[in-house]
Amino acid sequence: MLCFSVIGQNSEELVLSSRFLHPINSKDTLNTINLVKKLGVKKVDWLYSDSESGLKELSKYARFSLAMNPQVPDSGQFTIKGRVQDINGNKLKAPWMSKWKMNNPYWGCVNSPVFQEVFKKRAQVLISLGAYGLVVDDARMNDQAVEWGGCFCEYCMDGFTNFLSTSGVNLPYLNFNYKAYLKDMNKVDSVYLLAELKMQFKKFQHESVVKFISNWRDEIKSQWPDIKLFTNNYLGRWTEIYSLFDGGIAEIRNKDLTDSFFLQKRSTCDSLKKEQTFTLASDNFLDYINFFNLCKKYHFNAVAPWDVFVGKGKESNSRYFIEDDLLEVIFSNFKNDCTWQIDSTENLIVKATLSARKNRRNTNKLIVYFSSINNEIKHFEIIK
Ligand SMILES: [Zn+2]
Repeated sequence: MLCFSVIGQNSEELVLSSRFLHPINSKDTLNTINLVKKLGVKKVDWLYSDSESGLKELSKYARFSLAMNPQVPDSGQFTIKGRVQDINGNKLKAPWMSKWKMNNPYWGCVNSPVFQEVFKKRAQVLISLGAYGLVVDDARMNDQAVEWGGCFCEYCMDGFTNFLSTSGVNLPYLNFNYKAYLKDMNKVDSVYLLAELKMQFKKFQHESVVKFISNWRDEIKSQWPDIKLFTNNYLGRWTEIYSLFDGGIAEIRNKDLTDSFFLQKRSTCDSLKKEQTFTLASDNFLDYINFFNLCKKYHFNAVAPWDVFVGKGKESNSRYFIEDDLLEVIFSNFKNDCTWQIDSTENLIVKATLSARKNRRNTNKLIVYFSSINNEIKHFEIIK
């Protein structure tokens, strides 16, 4: 029997993360605002939306953070100018987005003045729509793009030449241009120099991102000191780039559902004074029981299992949406002094029980009948 008791300061929150403001079209049966109303959610994070009227309505019930990423368009809906380029001058897509159908597949280059302006303007627009915070997804930008062959745009090349002038590297000729040097392999006469330049280029792109995010953050904060800036910090890591943000929203894996993982993350967040929200990529309700317990025990915000990305490879559009009624029970109990237990396995139906003490005598009990054959919730009941 798995059993976790929950104590604490109740500083953590169960938050809703709706990737888009549903319904997104006439066929969409989901409705973010109706769900927010039903659950009494006070915070919606990581939402992609430009809908002035929709966000105004949402703001009546919950504060929300809006998301942006390196694909902020520069020309209408399209990503044309100021983009990360490969060595041949072609615009680059992130490898995992290569098959996604979208108007704006290309990442901006942090060294391009066009993209610097576009990224700042986008933040201003989102804040003007009423966001309490901004979430920057894929905040590694050029630091990550260097792994798939970027960025060789003119701004990066000029910037890299300047960077090298203070690096102590002995360059083979004056007016050095890294792209021209690599393209003309006859001149690449030293494998040692080639390796040194490659290492320095990674360092340069990393420092470019640190400078870009720092400048962007400082400009935003000088105008809106209270705005919260979050990033997608995979597994709750706080690298130099992620540490430029106030907080992180991180996807964790089933194997991270351990006391040691959460304890270590708690200690890091405390020492760095960072706010951390976790989201679990799973469509298994039983995993969520462990997840809620651990988030409560170690005081992390937890993303509710609704609109949670669980796809892999070909199913990259798969998202998990738990039943609204069950989610309502989970929400109402997350803050209470409660215990989730996985009681027993009977004919492959698992009973997951939540006991919430309303006062010293009364206990609400939720029993969820869950099939471990197909990971489906068969039904659930609340016993008062
Ligand atoms: Zn560039």
